[in-house]
Amino acid sequence: MVLDFEFRKQVMDHHISSDLIKYCYQCSRCTDNCPVSAVSIDFYTTSGYNPRANILNALLGYKDAIFSADPLAIWGCTVCDTCDEVCPQNIELTEIFTFLKNKSTEMGKAPEFIYGQAKAIFENGKAIPSQPAIERRRQQLGLPEIPSPDVNIVQSLIKNIGADKKLK
Ligand code: SF4
Ligand code: SF4
Repeated sequence: MVLDFEFRKQVMDHHISSDLIKYCYQCSRCTDNCPVSAVSIDFYTTSGYNPRANILNALLGYKDAIFSADPLAIWGCTVCDTCDEVCPQNIELTEIFTFLKNKSTEMGKAPEFIYGQAKAIFENGKAIPSQPAIERRRQQLGLPEIPSPDVNIVQSLIKNIGADKKLK
């Protein structure tokens, strides 16, 4: 594994509680309480989603270990925040995981469905476009029409951060 100092610095700079992440002592309480780990980790091969390992690799700057792995290694996190709650060192793990997800998207390594969902937002202004069947059902239930988002504003925002280029 290659140690990437620049990546390590980015992790440390990104973390709002950067003083805390370096105090991770690998107790594994995050992984033990993670609902995704509970259903995905194979304890014989240690494959599956493992927040403890992600924190260790991020902290040590092992970029390759994070991004050359199965995309589930990062994207498995559902941001339920349980790990943030149970970490004895008060590390905001989900903040690091969001950074890793953004990085993986930038590198074109995110799962296909992430780009698909971002494309739907770019084209429709929302992740789940309106569908006639849903609109008819709302009418039957006497619910008000859902206002249409201003797609131009959404597209400008996405273009301003350069994310539109990643959707091509
Ligand atoms: S619970 Fe906190 S201290 Fe323990 S391994 Fe996870 S991040 Fe590190
Ligand atoms: S926020 Fe992510 S890593 Fe943390 S417990 Fe929930 S699913 Fe697991």
